[in-house]
Amino acid sequence: MRLILLGPPGAGKGTQCKRIIDKYHIAHLSSGDILRAERAAGSDLGKKAQGYMDSGALVPDNLIIDMMVKAMTGASQGYVLDGFPRTTVQAEGLDKALAKAGEKINAIVNLIVDDALILPRMTGRRSCPKCGAVYHILTLKPKVEGKCDKGCGDLVQRADDTPEVVGNRLKTYHQQTAAVVGYYKSKGAVILDIDAAQEIDQVTKAVFQKLDNLNK
Ligand code: ADP
Ligand code: AMP
Repeated sequence: MRLILLGPPGAGKGTQCKRIIDKYHIAHLSSGDILRAERAAGSDLGKKAQGYMDSGALVPDNLIIDMMVKAMTGASQGYVLDGFPRTTVQAEGLDKALAKAGEKINAIVNLIVDDALILPRMTGRRSCPKCGAVYHILTLKPKVEGKCDKGCGDLVQRADDTPEVVGNRLKTYHQQTAAVVGYYKSKGAVILDIDAAQEIDQVTKAVFQKLDNLNK
């Protein structure tokens, strides 16, 4: 199965992806996670990306398309794309790569949530820099405050989860990313709309229900 998860920053894409990959045994290809790993490794790509990421802007399309196509090539069991595509140019780049490989996306999971809910979700987010697990100080607390449940050690707050950068990221989303849903609608893709304002477990239930129905 090949999926795309769309939604604004803070919609819960990473959180739901972790549950989707556990159930359907596919790879989680998160453009944000891959970029953070490139930065941690001090690679050329990581260095090129850092200024854009720190300000809440998008990393240039050509860098992202190459990076994600490479990641997809290694995921023969199927995958869920998280945070990509984020522009219609990226969506076109993805279409070209899929056509070349003779592959198709089965469905697009579209997490719908109002801007008003985003700021508290993102400023309360805590992440594990080692395993990528995502928590929230109020809605998804770790068992021990500030520590990853999987024994990795300290949780961190992402530098781009400050109110100022979150504001920029939301602006970027509305200016450049929201149109991606329209792009897929115009292509007649299977789009599964999900109310992502619900509690985390309710969102998961709705996602699983729609994905399970896909092949019936
Ligand atoms: P994204 O990957 O879309 O940026 P995340 O999955 O990292 O979003 O979620 C952002 C924050 O909001 C995390 O702290 C997460 O625990 C929390 N969160 C995710 N989904 C929900 C939800 N349905 N209700 C409340 N909080 C949520
Ligand atoms: P995320 O982890 O998805 O919130 O992404 C963090 C940051 O990485 C974004 O604010 C962008 O700067 C950058 N980024 C992630 N995915 C993309 C993408 N598909 N296109 C451009 N920039 C991206």
